Formats: sequence, C-alpha cells, structure tokens
Amino acid sequence: MTQDSQSFTPERPLRVAVVGSGPSGIYSAESLIKQAEVPVEVDIFDRLPTPYGLVRYGVAPDHLTIKSVTKAFEKTLNDDRVRFLGNVEFGRDLSREQLLEHYDAVIYAVGASSDRRLGIPGEDLTGSLSATEFVAWYNGHPDAATRDLDLSGVTGVAVIGVGNVALDVSRILAKTADELHTSDIAGHALDVLRGSGVKDVYVMGRRGPVQAKFTTKELREFGELEAANVALRPEEMQVSEAEEAAITDNVVKKNLEVLRGFGELERRDVPRTVHFRFLVSPTEILGDEQGRVRAIRIEKNRLTESGGAEGTGEYEEIPVQLVLRSVGYRGVPLPGVPFDEKAGTIANEGGRVTGGQGEYTAGWIKRGPSGVIGTNRKCAADTVALLLEDVNSGTLAPRAGSREALDTHLAAHPVYTFEDWQVLDQHEQSSGSAAGRPRAKVVRLEEMLGHRRG
Ligand code: NAP
Repeated sequence: MTQDSQSFTPERPLRVAVVGSGPSGIYSAESLIKQAEVPVEVDIFDRLPTPYGLVRYGVAPDHLTIKSVTKAFEKTLNDDRVRFLGNVEFGRDLSREQLLEHYDAVIYAVGASSDRRLGIPGEDLTGSLSATEFVAWYNGHPDAATRDLDLSGVTGVAVIGVGNVALDVSRILAKTADELHTSDIAGHALDVLRGSGVKDVYVMGRRGPVQAKFTTKELREFGELEAANVALRPEEMQVSEAEEAAITDNVVKKNLEVLRGFGELERRDVPRTVHFRFLVSPTEILGDEQGRVRAIRIEKNRLTESGGAEGTGEYEEIPVQLVLRSVGYRGVPLPGVPFDEKAGTIANEGGRVTGGQGEYTAGWIKRGPSGVIGTNRKCAADTVALLLEDVNSGTLAPRAGSREALDTHLAAHPVYTFEDWQVLDQHEQSSGSAAGRPRAKVVRLEEMLGHRRG
C-alpha cells in the first residue's frame, strides 16, 4: 500500500461511478471490490431499470446457458459496497460534471448500442433494418418492443455478414415457435414468429468460408434445426490447397469441417432453408411501389491476394422482403465525453479516457464490438488496474462528493434499485413458468417501473 492509496479509508472509501450495468460495467465493479489495496464504494448506473445490458438484450433468447452468467453478476450487485441505480440516464438525469463532482473516478461501460451501415441504395426501405434493431425487438428491449414487425408476408430474408450476430438472427428466424417456446424470447416476438411465412434465409459473407467470423458451436446449431435444411453452393465453398494449408486458427478449421458436413446432410422435407452464401456483396436493396423491400441485388466476389473481396461484375437478384444488416455494432458518443469517431469508441489509452478527469472506460465502448462476454472481464480488470495505478500515484485523490450528496441530488428521481429489479425478476420468472417458459419479459418501461419492492 502506498501513501496515496491511504488517502482513501474505510470511512472515506474511493468512490467510483460505473455508467452501464452490462457485463463490462459489472465486471469493473467486481474487479474493484475484489482488490484489497483500496477501500471502495461503487455505484452502477443504467438508463434502464433492468441490469445486465447485453446479457438481457443482446444474447440470443435460446442461449440460456450463456445467460447464467447473471448468477455471478448478482453476487457483485448484492455486495454491500455496490449499489445499482437503474432508470438513471447519463446526460439526462445526471451530467458528466455532476458525476465528476460526486465521484473520485468514473468508468464508462455503455457498450456499443448502434450499428454499422452498408452504404448501398435501398438501405432505408421498409423491411431493411439492422440486426441490432431486430435483436432488440425479439429480446424485448423497451426501445424496440413497440416496433411493428409483420413476418406473415415475408418468405425470403437476407442477412448480411457472417459473424455470430448474423447466426443468432438467422437461427431465430429458422426456428419454429415450438423450438422458441423454451427460450426467453419476448412474447410479442414469439407471436409474430409463430405467424412467420419465412421459407428462405440467406446468410451472406462478402469473403469466403475461411474468413467467416462465427464460432463453431454456434455454426453447428444449424445442423440441428427441426424445420430447416442448410444449403451451400459448392463453387462458393471452394478453398484452394494453399489457402487451406495456411489456416492456423482451429476455429476456422472446425468451421470448415462443419460447413462441409452440412453439404453432406440429407435434405429433409421441411418448410425452411438456411442458405450460406459466400463471396457475395449486396449492391442494392430493391423496393416495390410502396417502398417495401422486394429483392436484394448481390455481386459475386473473388478473393484478392491480400484476403479482401473484389467484385467480378456478375450480379444476381434474390427475392426477399426483409434485409437484416449484421455487419457490426458501433458505439454512440456520450455527452461531453471525448469520442473517437473513426473507431466508434470513447477516445482512450488502454482504458484511461483521453484528456479525462479521473475517467476510464471498459468493454465495447473502450475497444470496439468484439469478443465474447468473458472477454469483458479481462478488459474491465485491465481498466481497474490503471485506475488503481492512478490512486497509487496520487493522480486520483478524494473529491468532495458523498453518497448522501448524490442521493439528495437524485431524491426526486424514480431510481430503480437492485431490490426493485429482484421483484421484477421474480415476477418475470413466475409468470413465465406459469406458461411453461423460463421467463415472460416485461417490455414496457412504465410497467417495469411498477414492479418495485414494497
Ligand atoms: P463480427 O463478428 O465482427 O462480424 C461482422 C461481419 O460483418 C463479418 O462477417 C464482416 O465481414 C461483415 N461485414 C462488415 N462490413 C461489411 C460490409 N460492408 N459488407 C458485407 N459484410 C460486411 O460482428 P458481430 O457478428 O456483430 O459480433 C460482434 C461480437 O459479438 C463478436 O465478437 C461475436 O463473436 C460476439 N457474439 C458472440 C456470440 C456468442 O458467443 N454466441 C453471439 C453474438 C455475438 P469481413 O470479415 O469481411 O469484414
């Protein structure tokens, strides 16, 4: 322990605000309470009443085992030194200046809530949306729950991109309502998917199968779908001997094996087909007279020597009524916090906000949208290590704030606590269980806020 770390005491602990209660926010809090060097007090803010961010609103509803990470998150949120302050929006209910006044340090862990665009004609037609929006809709995010989606007239869907998010949305579209019943998909989405007319889902990669970003476990699930076959085109699956010999990544090797295995599966008499298309780029989304998507035009590509995609000038038109672009998430700037527009992240050096005043960042808003949930644990721990380094060097010193001053500031605001969330959580689980489902999500903000302790 250094002289400077002693400026924080059990009576006046290091006060840290974490903005965002997704995995990186909660892992940041976990790292802070697990270290023994400096006494701490952590307040985690979220604009929504519900904690867990991407685990509740991003992870696919049929991947319930991934969601069991919330058990560990609960442990952190139950710690006496940690508070959850839900329904408090940074920039609306609490400004950056106010946070800097009330806390010795702030960690921004707000994830990447927006999406990247394709930049092709027709992207704004009705029926063209981002996978981010579609995921938020079926996961019951309050911002997207009221979206009016009708899949009854949709027979073809193009999913652009070959990462895990593309697999998630394709799988949800390919599954039957019975398969989805055991997931925690939002009720409104299950109803719409029950009436879905989808027959063909085209998952499109601009490069070849070797360059696809998905992980093998997620890919394998396509061989186990009750009502969907998998289709591949042999010419798009061709990998040269030299390219195959150069593969060092085991995931890529296994993905190839799984994809080739799909090619050998017997075609069953089932209503749906998931088509994996490689070496194709969308060039235009075509609309009908009402401005609704009716088809997608794609150009066939070849791989360049450097592993990029190059158009061949050969085009194809595929009839689809829904296009989901799944080409990556993008961070959104926070009011007053330095932002790197090019990277779509908060401007930072290893987690210290550039030019910040005791400000740090962790997770996707620090390093971009990559990795699995566990990746954020190390990312958050790295950030917290820098924060503690700054405590030890005396860069971070106690400020005037206190929990009482902050609570006075928010006194008139309907803060949603962890105990309130536990009431809602219990309600969702018991109403789900009555219907034979793991959970029935409450999706409207006002209704969420009505479930409170007492
Ligand atoms: P991602 O893995 O980065 O994949 C993005 C895909 O979009 C790539 O195939 C990329 O192709 C393609 N793309 C980018 N720009 C394009 C363009 N202009 N035209 C056509 N294609 C384009 O991103 P993600 O799927 O959004 O996933 C984000 C992170 O979350 C990943 O780390 C992922 O593994 C993780 N995740 C994990 C799970 C899970 O573990 N079950 C589930 C969901 C998400 P290029 O390679 O050619 O750029």
